[in-house]
Amino acid sequence: MTQYVAAIDQGTTSTRCMIFDHSGRVVAVDQKEHEQIFPKAGWVEHDAKEIWQNARQVAAGALARADLSNSDIVAVGITNQRETALVWDRTTGEPVYNAIVWQDTRTDRIVTELGNRGGGQERYRDKVGLPLATYFSGPKVRWILDNVEGAREKAEAGDLMFGNMDTWVLWNMTGGVNGGVHVTDPTNASRTMLMDLDTLQWDEEIAADMGIPMSMLPEIRSSSEVYGQVRERGALAGVPIAGILGDQQAATFGQACLSPGEAKNTYGTGNFMLLNTGTEKVMSENGLLTTICYKIGESAPVYALEGSIAVTGSLVQWLRDNLGMISSAAEIERHARSVEDNGGAYFVPAFSGLFAPYWRSDARGAIVGLTRFVNKGHLARAVLEATAFQTREVLDAMNADSGVDLKALKVDGGMVVNELLMQFQADILGVPVIRPVVNETTALGAAYAAGLAVGFWKSEDDIRQNWAEDKKWEPQMDDARRESEYKNWKKAVSKTFDWVE
Ligand code: ADP
Repeated sequence: MTQYVAAIDQGTTSTRCMIFDHSGRVVAVDQKEHEQIFPKAGWVEHDAKEIWQNARQVAAGALARADLSNSDIVAVGITNQRETALVWDRTTGEPVYNAIVWQDTRTDRIVTELGNRGGGQERYRDKVGLPLATYFSGPKVRWILDNVEGAREKAEAGDLMFGNMDTWVLWNMTGGVNGGVHVTDPTNASRTMLMDLDTLQWDEEIAADMGIPMSMLPEIRSSSEVYGQVRERGALAGVPIAGILGDQQAATFGQACLSPGEAKNTYGTGNFMLLNTGTEKVMSENGLLTTICYKIGESAPVYALEGSIAVTGSLVQWLRDNLGMISSAAEIERHARSVEDNGGAYFVPAFSGLFAPYWRSDARGAIVGLTRFVNKGHLARAVLEATAFQTREVLDAMNADSGVDLKALKVDGGMVVNELLMQFQADILGVPVIRPVVNETTALGAAYAAGLAVGFWKSEDDIRQNWAEDKKWEPQMDDARRESEYKNWKKAVSKTFDWVE
């Protein structure tokens, strides 16, 4: 009997369930978008109950599309938008507040206040590998405890649970108030600012400094082991849940970046480049994050350097939803192709401040270089080029930190169907850009983690063998033009600083 592995991919804009066969091919997909809630400038929330409902529905939907039953699935893996923080009641299962999404900047004051106690942005860097920034979960939990009535008292009495979306989905899948398991994996935990990168345990000192009771925190297990069985009747009931990886680490795994020196870049809502640094923890001196790449069962943890960019694909959505300049994301390529170049325009989408390599929460977006000549096509190009320029900044930082220049970049995510962007990316990096056959690397990575735990895949070599190239873009731009474009971009970035006190 042919068997399969399922993955639940709880992303920023949607939740998917994908079913994979042994060769890593997609057998079925079901997907549901959820509401993006923007209560104020800089705030982004999700309704966690809507997300859990969607997760159940897409699991049932994917099985139905594949015409499979629960017994055909040997394991399920979970991957998720990282950092997005939720607090819920242990006995009722009710969230005390919406999930606060990774892009949300409401914690800027908390973050500044923590830094002012000493150490500034680097206060916790030695232990957690991260700069103090609004991006990470810890300060978001602190905000909920400070601002939701009665939350702090309940948390201190041990009545509340914290989790990222992996933990929320897993807890519900394994029974919720009826015995749900409250666990996470080190890739997710390494994005909270609360986990020690050496011990892979919560750091009590930092938790106390942030005012977060230890009793709220899930147990940190490995990224690949059986955490429990799906308890619900219906879709996937009885199937072991055997893998958890944060979405970017999952994509790294799905791209088979399993040896030190291998990197991938994912182009979704934001962009995330991860470089596998093996069992060595490399501390960044160039604005990157040090994070857990994965921990498979009892094996030693593998670390990564990461360059996170907050806004890339979401700038295309902004053009569609906020300006109405295009009616679909795909349409941007046609407009961009109507012109030769950007006409002198540069668009720096610092909507959530700037993440890597700057970490400036005071930055806000800017379009510069405008003249009467600039038209819709040029702006469409400037939007796409913003993704490529930001990626170049991260790649330069990666090369500087690791001391080795990357020879090629493996890419994936929703934007890599855009051929104009991919060519420009190769041009502006000066190295080839390579897209794999299976572009759904995030879900695939979570499926691999789960499948390895139950012996469906025997070793990482199986994963390496499944990877195959679809298309490669070679750089075509001459060096002088590349460097002058990049210089203009840097100048544009410098115009975005100091907008918020
Ligand atoms: P996520 O997992 O972060 O939700 P996806 O990997 O599904 O994101 O990618 C979706 C993003 O890709 C959206 O922000 C969308 O604007 C962008 N996108 C989709 N198609 C195109 C395209 N043809 N050209 C440029 N951007 C695109």
